[in-house]
Amino acid sequence: MKILVNGIQSNLRFSSAHVIPGHESCGYIHGHSYFVDVEIEGERAGDFEFVVDFKDVKGFTKAICDELDHRLLIPVYNDLIEFKDFDKDNDSIFNLKKKHTVHFKIDGKGYALPGVDCVFLPLPYTSAEELSKFFAETLAKKLSETYDNLEYVAVCVNEGIGQGAEYRKDL
Ligand SMILES: [Zn+2]
Repeated sequence: MKILVNGIQSNLRFSSAHVIPGHESCGYIHGHSYFVDVEIEGERAGDFEFVVDFKDVKGFTKAICDELDHRLLIPVYNDLIEFKDFDKDNDSIFNLKKKHTVHFKIDGKGYALPGVDCVFLPLPYTSAEELSKFFAETLAKKLSETYDNLEYVAVCVNEGIGQGAEYRKDL
């Protein structure tokens, strides 16, 4: 059986800034009011014969939204982003967050921002495609700690109403 959680109606939303380095119009820092839809298929199980408790799905998804909300999302593994004093291949991404000021270039343009204003993601892009994969994988991992009856977790990250990307993580 399948369960569905509607992001707008369940308040699974976040508002963030991002940039798609090298893109003609999206290569400038701009924002979206995102919302996240979740679909999970699995066997009904446990005391209440749930596929999964809605409270868990909404709680775990909201936690990811809250981490990204009101921040600039930086895809650390994008080839057009260069950091000062940070080696992508050897340094931990967590060190970036701790920096008072992070200096970087995006497609040759220079930025200096407080680390706390940014979320550094281990992704090549912060497109809806990559964000949906990130959400689905993170949510699937979290749910797997409690549930062993799930077949897949699919997440659609919408960049506002009318356009979104969905990624399905099979379990
Ligand atoms: Zn955008």
